[in-house]
Amino acid sequence: MPAEFRIENAAGTSSGQWANGWSYFPFGQELGESKQTDRMRFTGHERDFFNPDGTADDLDYMHARFRSPLTGRFLSTDPVLGTPKLPQSWNRYAYVSGNPLRNVDPDGRVQFDSLLTKMEFYQAVDYLSQDPGARIVLEKLASLRGASEPWVFATEGATGYRPSLNIIEWNSSAGLDVRGLGGKAGAGGSWIQSPAMGLLHEVAHTVQNNSSPEQFKQDSVRDGSEYTDPEERRVITQVESPAATALGEPTRAAHDGTQVPAKTPPFPKDDIERVPKN
Ligand SMILES: [Zn+2]
Repeated sequence: MPAEFRIENAAGTSSGQWANGWSYFPFGQELGESKQTDRMRFTGHERDFFNPDGTADDLDYMHARFRSPLTGRFLSTDPVLGTPKLPQSWNRYAYVSGNPLRNVDPDGRVQFDSLLTKMEFYQAVDYLSQDPGARIVLEKLASLRGASEPWVFATEGATGYRPSLNIIEWNSSAGLDVRGLGGKAGAGGSWIQSPAMGLLHEVAHTVQNNSSPEQFKQDSVRDGSEYTDPEERRVITQVESPAATALGEPTRAAHDGTQVPAKTPPFPKDDIERVPKN
């Protein structure tokens, strides 16, 4: 369970700026300034943080990192207003509803930074499970035990998986625009994958890293192909594309794409109303 120590802005401004603080992962790693260099060091191992080769999003990435996974819920109201069926979700400050003392899933397995993340995660699971192949991968995720149990953190930045920490950072409001990558359009000609599809992609990495770590490491070496490396090729061609096809979502034939705001499943607008950020 993450322990957090923070100093809120004493002025209590409406922008809720984070004045200072220190955050730690359950295993004691500090989530702090050094992460930027960590990221550089782990380039080639961290998966799918767009754009991996550019610097344009680094500031944004740092921004997102400081606001998430552990701090984001403190700083701004969540764009999700909540779903009528889940009273806990009505509170727009997910941290308040996501009591950190109860962060750990009572069943073990997947662990979450907040109740809202957990709720959205299982909405995505419900949606993805319509595809039998995706269901198998999700069941493997649920079967991980002990040190292999991953965490899922909400982020307003890029969706990705950190094998070094066994953490999926998931932007549940963003999908991947995959046009021009040799794939096929989804239903209605859409080229934007759902946030759930991005989650499935990272879950596939997570399962591989925890169940076949040596294979994961071996397949994580760049091979100069359009898929970057064999691990990405496996995830995209064997997990992501079949699920996307079954669910009417667009596919890609390269490990590329641009993360864009998305309102696509698993969040039907009838269930959750999204509002623009302040
Ligand atoms: Zn990937």
